[in-house]
Amino acid sequence: MRKNVVAGNWKMNTTLEEGVELANQINSLLKGKTVNCDVVVCVPFTHLTSVNAVLESELVKLGAENCSEHEKGAYTGEVSAAMVKSTGATHVILGHSERRQYFGENNEQLLAKTKLALANGLTPIFCVGEVLEERENGTYNDVVKCQVEALFDLSAEDFGKIIIAYEPVWAIGTGKTATAEQAQDMHAHIRKVIEDKYGKEVAEDTSILYGGSCKPGNAPELFAKPDVDGGLIGGAALEAESFLGIIEAC
Ligand code: PEP
Repeated sequence: MRKNVVAGNWKMNTTLEEGVELANQINSLLKGKTVNCDVVVCVPFTHLTSVNAVLESELVKLGAENCSEHEKGAYTGEVSAAMVKSTGATHVILGHSERRQYFGENNEQLLAKTKLALANGLTPIFCVGEVLEERENGTYNDVVKCQVEALFDLSAEDFGKIIIAYEPVWAIGTGKTATAEQAQDMHAHIRKVIEDKYGKEVAEDTSILYGGSCKPGNAPELFAKPDVDGGLIGGAALEAESFLGIIEAC
């Protein structure tokens, strides 16, 4: 059975002190609550160890926002999957549209990152999504299919360990959310693409999250759709109460 997941993506926000405080608040708000999803906070590399120290892992899991496509060695400034794992993190966001757009990450690199994340016992939250032009010219299903297919070198067993996040780029940080119907249609499409390659069981077991201006107000409608298994949350994850509101919508 696939899991519901709500994951926060802090991006390049919060100083270390602010991040630890936010993690503390999220942890405290979740204490004693029964929630219907796994909760993950994905934080800057610099924050991983300190945030891990304040989170109770049965309440909130920890993730990074990226990792290197190289195993180790002379790659100044890079952070490997093994390093991320050694902080106590369990998850890593890969292929976020900001990485694809601003840092030119391509399918080949993303496959290498995904393989290393899996080899190090991390759960990749693998992001896909079309830009506005592709939504408007009607190529969005093909675009997202190609992004998912970039992982088809993985075995069914490994693919089954991945979380997919559908994040229409035009909805990220813009306040413009996909309608629940648009999200459901794309999630069902992604599940079919997975089924055609790996079979029904893997497809049914894959958690597919929606991301893009998700807030406590629109989360219930989005999460009510049968193929939407939670959310990847940017802006609204930077405030403990609003993040909790989204978790409670799950
Ligand atoms: C994101 O960047 O992953 C995201 C979903 O951002 P926001 O919620 O701010 O649109």
